[in-house]
Amino acid sequence: MQNLEVPRVDFLSRSPEQTRRIGQYLGAALQTGDVICLQGDLGAGKTTFVQGIAQGWGSRDWVSSPTFMIVNVYRNEDENQLFHLDTYRLESTLEAEELDLQTMQAQGALLIEWPERMERLIPRERLWVKIEHVNQEERRMEVTSHGKRYDNLLEVLRRATYGVG
Ligand code: ADP
Ligand code: MG
Repeated sequence: MQNLEVPRVDFLSRSPEQTRRIGQYLGAALQTGDVICLQGDLGAGKTTFVQGIAQGWGSRDWVSSPTFMIVNVYRNEDENQLFHLDTYRLESTLEAEELDLQTMQAQGALLIEWPERMERLIPRERLWVKIEHVNQEERRMEVTSHGKRYDNLLEVLRRATYGVG
């Protein structure tokens, strides 16, 4: 029988440090071509999560919001690339189309803040992370897998958050 339920993991992060720590596990498992979408309001903790992911991945670069650039590229010791996109300031779909996700995806993993602003352009197979503000220090995180590869990453998160929330 076909299982139509989307595989998912939910947990509660109780601090920015915890969000980063969980991100590190995901980052350590990232491979070229992976697409991680990060949905959540301003201040939800998307960039904080990306900081952990980049650290776990082995980035030598400082992670900040790609405010003016829209795309930040991080590198690790092996000169692999990690693309951090923030489409918050994109003016139009046309502008989004110019980003050429396919080329980036061929060269590294993609972390996308505000993915809903360019959902049409994002590959159907992806990990989708939704972060919700609960109170000052708490965030509810809901992660769903869309595609077989992402079931593996979901499993990594399941283990990372075992006993959390
Ligand atoms: P976004 O990229 O979603 O706009 P940021 O990561 O830039 O959000 O900012 C999140 C803010 O919320 C930071 O100041 C961070 O320290 C704070 N924060 C408090 N608790 C948490 C938590 N549990 N997880 C992530 N960030 C948190
Ligand atoms: Mg951000």
